[in-house]
Amino acid sequence: MRLSQYPVNTTKETPSEAEVISHKLMLRAGLIRRLAAGIYTFMPMGLKTLRKVERIIREEMDRAGALELLMPAVQPAELWQESGRWDQYGPELLRLKDRHQRDFVIGPTHEEVITDVARRELRSYRQLPVNFYQIQMKFRDEIRPRFGVMRGREFIMKDAYSFHADQASLAEGYEAMKRAYTRMFERMGLSFRAVRADTGSIGGTASEEFQVLADSGEDAIAVSDADDYAANLELAPALPPAGARPAPSQPLARVPTPGARTIEEVSKLLGIAPARCLKTLIVDGSDGGTVALVLRGDHELNAVKAQKIPGIANPLRMAQPARVREATGTEPGYIGPVGLPMRLIADHSALALADFVCGANAKDEHLTGVNWERDLPAAEAADLRNVVAGDPSPSGQGKVQIRRGIEVGHIFQLGRKYSEAMQTTVLDPEGKALTPLMGCYGIGVTRIMAAAIEQNHDDKGIIWPDPIAPFTVLLVTLNHDRSEPVRQLADQLYAALGAAGIDVLYDDRDARPGVKFADAELLGIPHCIVIGDRGIAAGRLEYRNRRAGTTEEIAANDVLAEIQRRLAAA
Ligand code: ATP
Ligand code: MG
Repeated sequence: MRLSQYPVNTTKETPSEAEVISHKLMLRAGLIRRLAAGIYTFMPMGLKTLRKVERIIREEMDRAGALELLMPAVQPAELWQESGRWDQYGPELLRLKDRHQRDFVIGPTHEEVITDVARRELRSYRQLPVNFYQIQMKFRDEIRPRFGVMRGREFIMKDAYSFHADQASLAEGYEAMKRAYTRMFERMGLSFRAVRADTGSIGGTASEEFQVLADSGEDAIAVSDADDYAANLELAPALPPAGARPAPSQPLARVPTPGARTIEEVSKLLGIAPARCLKTLIVDGSDGGTVALVLRGDHELNAVKAQKIPGIANPLRMAQPARVREATGTEPGYIGPVGLPMRLIADHSALALADFVCGANAKDEHLTGVNWERDLPAAEAADLRNVVAGDPSPSGQGKVQIRRGIEVGHIFQLGRKYSEAMQTTVLDPEGKALTPLMGCYGIGVTRIMAAAIEQNHDDKGIIWPDPIAPFTVLLVTLNHDRSEPVRQLADQLYAALGAAGIDVLYDDRDARPGVKFADAELLGIPHCIVIGDRGIAAGRLEYRNRRAGTTEEIAANDVLAEIQRRLAAA
């Protein structure tokens, strides 16, 4: 492709709406253009990378034996009513009516449609297992679309759904997808981790996310520093502290703490570390009452863990201030577990404290020297908190480290949720009805592009991994319009590289070298050949490697072979 024929509008200025580097660079390089919030056009150069990503995904899905199909974006509401998700899915689901006032949705995902396909097409256990996949546009009316295509509203997903006669087959199909995903992301040159994930409200048995490691990632991941344990922070268990609780050594005292409500304020005022103060959070119970959750002051509540405890509202809801006042007789900031008239659940590490500080259930007062089983009965013990760096790893090996990640894929053993709700059966060997188990496997195709850039860039621009670069080689001419020898050699090389099947971009613009090199670095094409009069005279051309940042001379009559050698090594 000749750059003179390509409408790339690169810019030096950083667009003000972009917060993360991938978004900035995608806009500056002209890969995407915004149409509306979370809705983007992929410009030709951006689409080239997208197609390469898709191709790797297709090859690995096909290799794993999955069958590609293509389902509609627009789906009738009846299917969503059948599965129960018409009511459960909040405002993220874009609903619309056709001219006959019939309800439809724009698919945020395709479990309903594929289950409908399966119940019509699959007859016998002999047709199982089967895995259908598609690469297709989704719409989710995200509450906060941001970071460009990282969290868009319209985006492309690869979604796959498998059907199985029994759990052993589902587990096997799930492992096959895990292997396929691992190969794909390795081929794309990404640094990633398969991370245990919450199975959430869908139920299901096993679930892992594929997280591309990047500081800008929205997800926190707990990893072990000693083995390959990795779990989403939502899920990573915090082990109870080893050893018994120390014996009480201080008397219980009531101290004035005027105006000090937060752990920070109380700890500062009393000169006691936050880790020795307890915070008490009042949440809604599932029966209409309230429940008190007690944590160490330096720990954070983990909502996913808390809402799984029977008796606690799911999803977790903090109690309204008026209810808190009614239930505790005091205001937020001064609540504590001593004498609190409601169910009390404490995190393991809160229960392990002796001589702690907590609210006195009276305005402007706290208690010090408080001890479980002396001053109040021991609360129910539970794991309520996020793990923190330095905690023992749940794997039993090493310590926890917290990393950030971008979720690019998610694999999930669904079980019979959809097949049961939508009455999908095949005949088993005895001729009886069998309800298949399902797995589902998603990949954020457009998000991968952003994630790859988060991991591969410098202050000058993108550094594409070879396999997903829009072009593999960039030919840059100097003095293009005035030098016939430069044009001739470049035209020749352009043809030769193209004939050898190499994806080459030819910067044949009549622009200053500084402009061409700045664009070369911004666009991030991995291999660059510079053709100028001086080099031609010496019989040597310049080769620049974008990733290594190196410049070398190569023989002008050997360019094709040199490039081929480098591509093979990449
Ligand atoms: P997230 O937690 O990021 O919202 P999700 O759990 O809703 O993701 P899934 O329903 O599992 O995502 O979708 C499969 C994949 O689709 C995700 O792993 C992610 O890579 C991608 N994806 C989900 N939402 C978006 C979005 N708004 N924009 C771009 N990609 C997305
Ligand atoms: Mg989501």
